[in-house]
Parts: sequence; C-alpha cells; structure tokens
Amino acid sequence: MSTAELGSRERQPMVNEGKVEALRRRLSGTLVRPGEQGYDAARAVWNGMIDRRPALIVYCANRQDVTEAVSFARMTGILTAVRSGGHNIAGASLCEGGLVIDLSRMNHVTVDPIIRTARAEGGALLADLDAATQVHGLATTTGVNSDTGLVGLTLGGGIGRLGRKHGLTCDNMVLAEIVTADGQVLNASEHENVDLFWGLRGGGGNFGIVTAITYRLHPLGPTVLAGSVVYEWKRVRDALRLYAEFSAAAPDALCTDAALITMPDGNHGFAISAFYAGSMDEGERVLRPLRQAFTPIADRIGPMSYAQLQKAGDGSFPRGHRFYWKAQFLRQIGKAAADALIDLFPSVPSPKSFFVFQQVGGAIGRVPRAATAYANRGAAYDSFPVAIWTDPAADEANMSWAREMYRALRPFAMDGVYVNNLGDEGDDRVKAAYGENYDRLVTLKRKYDPDNFFRLNQNVRP
Ligand SMILES: Cc1cc2nc3c(=O)[nH]c(=O)nc-3n(C[C@H](O)[C@H](O)[C@H](O)COP(=O)(O)OP(=O)(O)OC[C@H]3O[C@@H](n4cnc5c(N)ncnc54)[C@H](O)[C@@H]3O)c2cc1C
Repeated sequence: MSTAELGSRERQPMVNEGKVEALRRRLSGTLVRPGEQGYDAARAVWNGMIDRRPALIVYCANRQDVTEAVSFARMTGILTAVRSGGHNIAGASLCEGGLVIDLSRMNHVTVDPIIRTARAEGGALLADLDAATQVHGLATTTGVNSDTGLVGLTLGGGIGRLGRKHGLTCDNMVLAEIVTADGQVLNASEHENVDLFWGLRGGGGNFGIVTAITYRLHPLGPTVLAGSVVYEWKRVRDALRLYAEFSAAAPDALCTDAALITMPDGNHGFAISAFYAGSMDEGERVLRPLRQAFTPIADRIGPMSYAQLQKAGDGSFPRGHRFYWKAQFLRQIGKAAADALIDLFPSVPSPKSFFVFQQVGGAIGRVPRAATAYANRGAAYDSFPVAIWTDPAADEANMSWAREMYRALRPFAMDGVYVNNLGDEGDDRVKAAYGENYDRLVTLKRKYDPDNFFRLNQNVRP
C-alpha cells in the first residue's frame, strides 16, 4: 500500500465521544472536529490536490499535548498522521477519518550564540529558524521555501543553499527530542540513543514525533551575494551546458540551482540562481563566468540579506495551488539528458510550472554513507519537474507533463530518490530512497515502533 492510499483507505474505529472530550480537557492546545469552527482551515495543507477529512485535529501547545495525543491514539486505535509545515507533496500529514497531531503552534526557536546552536520546537518553519539565528549572524542549512516545516525537512535530510558548505540540515543536528509510539520521551544524540540519532538523520517520520531539534550553527550574513541570471530560450542549450560545467566545478561555498521556466511574457527561459557563502569579492570573482560566457537577459545577482534570500522563492510555491512532482538524483547533466529536457519542456501546460535542478554535493557527499540514514550522498543534483496549476480539470494534463519530463530523464538518473520529494510512488521507490540503509532502518523500526504506529510517511515496515 502506498502513502496516499494509507491516508484514505484504512477503516477507522468509532471513537467514543467521552474519550474525545476527555482528551480535549487534558490538552493545553486545541482540538478541532468536523463541523467545528475552523475545521476547513485546519484540514488544509500546502498542496491543494489533497482533500481529506480527519476525524480529529489536535493542535499541540507543548510536549505534554503530544504525549496525550499519542496515548489517545494508542488507546483508541485511530490512524494517526503527524503534521508540522504541511508541505509533504503526497499529503502524508493529513489522513481520512483519523487523527492529525499538529505541531505548528510549537514553533519557538532559542539560540545560544556562544556555543552556536539553535533549539527549534517541532513545528517551527524554516523562516522561524532563519529569523532567530540571523539576529546573531548565524545560520544552518535549510531549504528554499521559508514556510516549509523545519523538522519534517530535517528528518528526511534537508537540502539547501548551505548544504555544499555545511552538509545537510540533518548533518547539523546535535540533539533530537522525540515522543515514541509507546509515549516515552527520549533524547537522541551522539551520546544518547545513538541508533535512534542515526535513524532520525534521513529516516523520516518513522520513529516518533520529534518535539525539538538542536542544530549546529555557522557564521553567515546578514548580507550575502546571491540572486539569479536568466537566459533566453534560443540560447537554452548553451546555457544548460554552461550550468552543467560551471556547477560541476563549483567550490563548496557556491550553490547554484537552475530551472527551465516560463517567463511573465509567455516565452520560455533558463534561470540560474546562485548563492555564495563567503566574501563578496571572492563571490563576484567566482560568479563572473555566469555573466561573461554570454549575456543573460536578466542579471539580478548582488548583495542581499540572507533572511530575504531565504524567502525569495516563496512566491513560486503558492500554498493551496495544485502541485505534482517526481524527483530523481543526477550525478551530472550530460548533453543527451539536457536535450531530452529541452525538447519536452515547451509542452508544459501551465506557465507556473518549471523544471528544477537543485545542486547538492560538496560537504554532503563527504559524509560517509553509513554515518546517517540519509543514503543519497553521491548525487550532484536533485532534479524534478514542478507542475503547478489551479484548475482541477487540468489535473491530468499537468501530471502527465511532469511524468513525461521525469521519464525523459530517467535513463540518465541515479537509482535513489530524495525521501522528502517522494510522492505516492510505491514500495520500490521507498526502498530506493533509503537505499543501502533500508535494512538497518527496519531493525530500528522494530525496536522503536514495532506496531508501525507511525506509518503515514515513506514507510519503513517493521
Ligand atoms: C514548496 C516546497 C519546497 C521545498 N523545498 C525543499 C528544499 O529546498 N529542501 C528540502 O530538503 N526539502 C524541500 N521540500 C520538501 C520538504 O522537505 C518535505 O516536504 C518535508 O516533509 C516538509 O516537512 P513539513 O513539516 O512541512 O511537512 P508535513 O507535511 O507537515 O510533514 C511531512 C511528514 O514529515 C514527518 N514529520 C513532520 N513533522 C514531524 C515531527 N515533528 N516529528 C516527526 N515527524 C514529522 C511526518 O512523517 C509527516 O508525514 C520542499 C517542499 C515544498 C512543498
């Protein structure tokens, strides 16, 4: 059974009214049920394709609420989803007829600027972490859309601009606090529950509800060199070759993502967004080839605030729109792969959609593959078509385009897939996501969640 089916197919037990009201009374946070005020807003997630009606949504105010909700779910046998930022592409954090344990109100971040760590509660968004850390001129790797859930992102790995210099988000995890399926509260670090600490760095939401993570921070900003250049479509082959060569030779401090896009005037184009985690002068020098090889039609690279940069992509992913993507990792972008994408891209049905390369490598690739549960260390790019549209009647056309783009690139791609970008794609893809670490994750799952209580995720079966 796959993620989305798990969310909708399981028959749910009748939950006794008295038990629900008793739970409500015990919570410091709130409980929302169908028919109650705010229910429709409470069941909305980022992807407008996901339309499910949970029986109960618990907004936890603190860790005690999380343990109350878990013990209620164990007692009643109700299917349980865990939600932080609500960004999962397949809507794994929302279930039909079940319980949603929502941590979005637990979003406090505290920073220790002396030892350079930040402790973020389980429902913090990327923006919450960036806001709190940038006050001290500090940062750690996170993703490119500031209202993504930080813990959801971290548990699957965490790919972002600082990754090539400082590793994945999960590589910067120092301590995780977790409520397990039996209601225990555990710490996981290099010193405590070391096996669990290994599994939480890439094994997704399989082992429990993470109520807080402490991260290692690094000096950065507040001003950094970043921005994008855009090339016109008639130069797309040259521009994509330039990107492939330029990014392959990049120093760790440089991260470049790129996208085939449709511009506001309706023409297609190719955009490279660059970020340099170092001095301005050095960055200007490193980025010169992007401007000099041939002239871009737009050049918006310059000094900007890191916190602002981290929000710059938000407009490209409007909450509530319909989204579909299929991701795969690449070791390089060869000519045949580039040609296949360039030939197919113009059939894109929606001008909001794009095809993106997200650069990884650098420090991410130097962490030994068995050191954490995150398996795909050898990749140079994550790559995927991002289909975005609003009309449900256009679902098939948009999803078909994305699938064709994915298929066109398949012969050139690696076997693995980024667990956080995996949709409802079946067991083989789940195994591909965890790769050679899968068996060890199964052993861990048997220890910490033998009944598979936490199963609405890219599931490791005990
Ligand atoms: C617009 C957009 C941009 C993105 N950009 C990036 C990016 O740049 N880099 C990157 O690495 N990823 C990126 N992602 C993918 C993102 O990391 C995943 O979707 C991630 O799961 C989002 O976490 P969430 O808390 O927002 O999601 P939710 O839907 O709330 O949760 C998803 C799953 O995460 C688990 N989970 C969430 N919170 C907890 C918790 N506190 N304890 C235990 N399990 C939990 C659960 O299994 C849950 O089903 C992006 C996603 C979107 C939609």
